[in-house]
Amino acid sequence: ATPTAVMVATGVGANNGVLIKGGDALERAQKVQYVIFDKTGTLTQGKATVTSLKVFTQMDRGHFLRLLASAEASSEHPLGKAIMEYARHFQFFEDPTAKKDDSNINMSAWLLDVSDFSAIPGRGVRCFIDGNQVLVGNRSLLTENGITIPSSVEEFVVDLEENAKTGILVACDTQLIGVVGVADPLKREAAVVVEGLKKMGIRPIMVTGDNWRTAKAVAKELDIDDIRAEVMPAGKADVIRSFQKDGSIVAMVGDGINDSPALAAADVGIAIGAGTDIAIEAADYVLMKNNLEDVITAIDLSRKTFARIR
Ligand code: ADP
Ligand code: MG
Repeated sequence: ATPTAVMVATGVGANNGVLIKGGDALERAQKVQYVIFDKTGTLTQGKATVTSLKVFTQMDRGHFLRLLASAEASSEHPLGKAIMEYARHFQFFEDPTAKKDDSNINMSAWLLDVSDFSAIPGRGVRCFIDGNQVLVGNRSLLTENGITIPSSVEEFVVDLEENAKTGILVACDTQLIGVVGVADPLKREAAVVVEGLKKMGIRPIMVTGDNWRTAKAVAKELDIDDIRAEVMPAGKADVIRSFQKDGSIVAMVGDGINDSPALAAADVGIAIGAGTDIAIEAADYVLMKNNLEDVITAIDLSRKTFARIR
């Protein structure tokens, strides 16, 4: 391709909200054999919703939610945000005089005092409330802190996971007190893009920090048969490298939450959505419209630009 052709392609991309960082990136995309998608916020909307809440002890639901919301109040994670959103509505129904708009002010009065908050990547959050350690997150978070998961709770969580939802476990002190089920719907175009890539001879892969059962249920809806689940944030780049080992050309599509190292490790890093600054820095492509169809637009543009004239 001539420099002019590259310039034209870059312009066409920009007009379609596909930012391409240089001619090398544009050229590599035509050779992509695998497209590895992050799940949360990439294949899914990244806007989780609480769908169920179950308390396994005598604690009343209101107090359970208050404890849970207090623990998640400082979380940046989409799951933490989903819980806060739910709590906001719950609190509104309890006290309709509290206007939903100035919910932040009302919320802070309702929330309990939290100390020593920490977010544990790939696990959840941990803090102290009223002198008790409160843990909110996945099984690993609880078991690593010496909390056993009763079989009734395990059954409830498995049922959520088989329905493509994530079960968030909540423990106070040494006791498991409840579970919150959260759903994060697929992006509308996700399935069609996966199918389109297959037609182009490219293999779609899904990688996620979420548990295997949820990951499988989501992958099944999309007809993706190769997945990696329960991957720690730092492990996503290793997944990319494992696909590159035999010289394969790998693209990674992610929203930048936990996956910037993977975007950087990929031959073609594709940041989707407004993205975080680190993601935009690490990526070769930025898809401004937050639409997965532009993964195909990007590869197609590269193929057309570098196609040999026979
Ligand atoms: P993903 O790769 O899907 O973006 P993460 O690596 O961010 O997932 O998180 C993996 C898992 O850790 C989540 O599925 C969830 O079970 C748990 N987790 C992480 N952060 C939180 C949080 N703030 N609240 C509850 N659970 C969390
Ligand atoms: Mg993510």
